[in-house]
Amino acid sequence: MIPATESEILKFICANHGAVNTDDLVYNLCSGDPDIINNREKFVPYCLNGQPKVVARTTLTLCNKRNCPGSCMKLHICKAILFSGSCQYSQFRTGCSFSHELNSDHNVRILGVHELESLSLMELRTLLLQNDDRLLPPVNLQILLLHKCMNDRF
Ligand SMILES: [Zn+2]
Ligand SMILES: [Zn+2]
Repeated sequence: MIPATESEILKFICANHGAVNTDDLVYNLCSGDPDIINNREKFVPYCLNGQPKVVARTTLTLCNKRNCPGSCMKLHICKAILFSGSCQYSQFRTGCSFSHELNSDHNVRILGVHELESLSLMELRTLLLQNDDRLLPPVNLQILLLHKCMNDRF
């Protein structure tokens, strides 16, 4: 079996709510080689109720400048579109100040730099939500993830 690439593993984690069991991941995607998830810019280990898990990370953030010329190296997407799929400002004649186009030239280039071009909008949403503090109330990641697990159970 050929081990998965970092990008494939990151996509897999994002598709699974942003965190997976380390053992399952290493066994199923890494050919049993835990070194593949050693890149701490992308994969962060933590423990939940004694279960080792890996969470997906990125240094990519959203640009919050209106009419940004694009030199920011951040993603140009309206927060409302990213997190809820619709934006209240699109019904106004003036429209929304932020891009509703994930596949714009700028975004495709930025996603390529971060090796995230294979992520779907949903996967990207998961990744950015758990990585960008400005998008969340100030809770730490563990509490967020604990919350997610509890929600999953009901
Ligand atoms: Zn920008
Ligand atoms: Zn918008």
